[in-house]
Amino acid sequence: MSERHCNFCGVADSQENPLVAGKEAFICANCVVSAYKILFGDTEETFSGTELEGELIYPKETKKLLDEYVIGQDNAKKTLSVAVYNHYKRIFKQHELEDETEISKSNILLIGPTGSGKTLLAQSIARFLNVPIAIADATTLTEAGYVGEDVENILVKLFQVADGDIQRCEHGIVFIDEIDKIARMGENRSITRDVSGEGVQQALLKIIEGSVVNIPPKGGRKHPNQDFIQIDTSNILFICGGAFDGLSEIIKRRQGANVLGFEQEKKSKAEKEDVVSLVEPDDLVSFGLIPELIGRLHVIATLEKITQEDMVRILTEPKNALTKQYQKLFELDEAKLSFEADALSEIAKKAIERKTGARGLRSILEELLLETMYELPELKGYEVIITSDNVINGTKPLYIKQKQSA
Ligand code: ADP
Repeated sequence: MSERHCNFCGVADSQENPLVAGKEAFICANCVVSAYKILFGDTEETFSGTELEGELIYPKETKKLLDEYVIGQDNAKKTLSVAVYNHYKRIFKQHELEDETEISKSNILLIGPTGSGKTLLAQSIARFLNVPIAIADATTLTEAGYVGEDVENILVKLFQVADGDIQRCEHGIVFIDEIDKIARMGENRSITRDVSGEGVQQALLKIIEGSVVNIPPKGGRKHPNQDFIQIDTSNILFICGGAFDGLSEIIKRRQGANVLGFEQEKKSKAEKEDVVSLVEPDDLVSFGLIPELIGRLHVIATLEKITQEDMVRILTEPKNALTKQYQKLFELDEAKLSFEADALSEIAKKAIERKTGARGLRSILEELLLETMYELPELKGYEVIITSDNVINGTKPLYIKQKQSA
């Protein structure tokens, strides 16, 4: 009797790797699995709710992860951790509720000065959750039909970041920066933008509140002939961010209306520093956001201005802190880079003067280290020490030949 063999790999029939018989051929179990992988990829399941559910992170855990990358901003981190937990719990666990209670979607508004970590927070959250994130600038958006970017383009971006996986896209995060710059003309403010800001807010409202949007998967104008695909935005988490310059005056004015005389003076003095954390939806309406949009941004978190001490911590503490990054660059050339404590304070001071928050730190370091990095390939075996004088007066850092270790 002739032994039966797999017609694909030639292996003989066995208990561990049995053959399946076809009309005139056989295939072994291993080849079936290989064929499946070739056809459908290595994983049996593509991205699904359950997969993310396994990764649902508790608020305390999220906060701890954020602490590794974002300095300070404790209040915003806590608020965001809870909001994100609720958001994904709503998506993946709502079906476990016995009754008909429907948990509505909460989007998030981050208010804080430029360079205080709003984008960094949103990016970090997306990374921990392993969901796609699209970052857009509200000032580049226009209403459909005008010159500029259509609001739907944000979803095209998200779809592309999700590698064209609709389900992944529909569980992603959209971060819209500079939302304050599309405020309409408020009764109380001098205007920074034309009236079309309101139209953009209306257009944003539609996607933020949850609707099915037709998008051209390759993006709009350059590729006219393409089939539209539908993205349901009801489970996409929208995080909006803005500096809202002038908001504290609006809040103070509101508070002033409630308190009179001496008490008012006492109160406003005490709250001068952190008045923005007392923001209420009405203040945002006075600022120029439309009430419907504010109504969709239920969670409001405020970020504080970065202090000089925080700047030093940002330079040195986060997992991918800037000084650590430059030290790695030096290490790759077998040189060592160190910063004296005074030098770090001076760098921080310079960043504060630039008024761009922690964003200024990188360019200060680039300028400071340019000459040294130019010479770096020749500095093998040296230690480069950055002092405060190098930062203040632009002098050349010390290069010290290191002893050869045995
Ligand atoms: P925003 O969105 O508030 O304008 P970003 O989050 O884009 O500011 O911050 C710009 C850069 O500054 C970040 O990439 C990060 O390197 C640094 N940064 C800002 N705030 C912080 C912070 N609180 N902790 C650590 N790094 C920060």
